[in-house]
Parts: sequence; structure tokens; C-alpha cells
Amino acid sequence: MSTYILWDIDGTLVCNTPNGGALYLDAIEQVTGTRPTERVSDPHGMTEGQLLAAILEVNGLDGSRLEEVLYQLDVLSREQHERGHVRDACVGVEAAIDAMTNRGWTNALLTGNGPHRARYKLLAAGIDPELFDWDHSYFGHQSPTRHHLTAGARAALDGHDSVIIGDTPNDGLAAHSAGIPFVAVATGIYPADVLETTSALVVVDDMESGLDDVLDAIESATSPGRDDEHPEVSEPQGEAGQLIDGPRERPEVAPGDELLHESQGRVEHPPAP
Ligand SMILES: [Mg+2]
Repeated sequence: MSTYILWDIDGTLVCNTPNGGALYLDAIEQVTGTRPTERVSDPHGMTEGQLLAAILEVNGLDGSRLEEVLYQLDVLSREQHERGHVRDACVGVEAAIDAMTNRGWTNALLTGNGPHRARYKLLAAGIDPELFDWDHSYFGHQSPTRHHLTAGARAALDGHDSVIIGDTPNDGLAAHSAGIPFVAVATGIYPADVLETTSALVVVDDMESGLDDVLDAIESATSPGRDDEHPEVSEPQGEAGQLIDGPRERPEVAPGDELLHESQGRVEHPPAP
């Protein structure tokens, strides 16, 4: 039995950006010919597919174009990466990832992003994508909600322990619905007192000041020390998901960092438009 630490990306590993979502608008405009003007009120915790579908809907655009928009989003993300796009890593995550590895746990991803976007975001924040097990990572870009994402991860990791680390109440709801223990970190837009209302084993301000508490909580929630107090599996409910993105340029990210196939633990570059 292995223990998988399933990291959310936006607000958990990589800091959110104030102009987040601009790339979504660009992708939708390039596909539909219309730039959305109506915003989705609470995008945090939505999967990418969920959020894009919502943007199309509130703007009266054709929802059947979603697959094309997702494809275009990958193309734009690759172009942004090649321009040297830079993000900030959340406080303490590199040391936290190392600490998880040193405990014998496997770091992986559970994110509303697609695999291309996930990889570009990690690279932009200076986080080595190879620190994560891509064969046991779960991507929600085509999940209608985050609950579908966590349910799939739970089934795939049957027989293993897993813990989700995330920054939104929706992360907690989706973890709970799949019966996966949840650790909350307040490095996204939600303060700790809001995250305290979730089923989180522990809520920390960041992964630096709270690392010991996080490690202790995961240790006690996973074999052999756990007491089987994991939340019960329940039907998907409510909203969930992810995101935020936005440009800040710095010409340091190696454009030649090719993305290989998922079976090799990596993902393919989307082809040029
Ligand atoms: Mg997040």
C-alpha cells in the first residue's frame, strides 16, 4: 500500500494571480469570435471544463464548442510558456514536497487543470514537474465538477491511502464526497477560518509554518496509524473546481522543456495552431 499526496495546483502549489482567467477569455474569443463580458461569480474550486462551460453559458455562447475551447486553451498555454511566463510558488511547498517524499509518500496532482496546463504552471513557478507521479495524478479539465474528479481518483487508488491538499472549500467538499482525507492550506483566496468549516484534518496558513501539523495529520490519517475515521463516500453534490491564471513575464523558463506522453509520466505538447 502506498500513500499518495494529491496536490491541488492553483492557490496550493502555485499562487493565484489577480488577472486570472484572461487566457480563458482569449481561448473562448478565438474559438467563438466573441469575447465574454459576463464573469462567473465564484470560479475558485471549479474544474477547468466546468468553468469554461459556465463562462460560455452566462455569455450566451455555444456550449458545444467546449472541446475546441479546451484545445485552444492548451495552445495558448504553450505559447505563454514559450514566452517565459512566470508564476510564484506558494510558501513552503518545495520543502513540503521533499518532506512528503522523505516519509515514503508519493506526491501527485489532483487539479481542475488539464495535464498540459498543470505542467506549464508548475514550470512557471519553478517547481519541478518530475517531483510528481504523473501516472497517479488526476486532471479535471473534462470533469463536470470536482466531485467527479475526486471520485475517479478514489477508484483509481483503491487499496492505497490518499490525502488531498487544497485551498478552497470546494476542494474539501469534493474530497469528502469521495471519502478522501483533506488538508487545507490558506494560501489561496480563502482564509483559514473559512477553511475551518470544511472537513479538513488540519488547516494551516501556509506549508512552511504549518508543515509539521500537516505531516502529523497525514501520518495519523493513513496506515498503519489511522483509526478509520475517514469521511464516508457520498454522492457528488454542489460545485467544485479550480483556477486562475495570468501573465507576468520573465524569460527564464526553458522553452525547450518538451512535454512527453502521459505514459512516460509527462504529457504531449499540443500541436501548433
Ligand atoms: Mg485551488
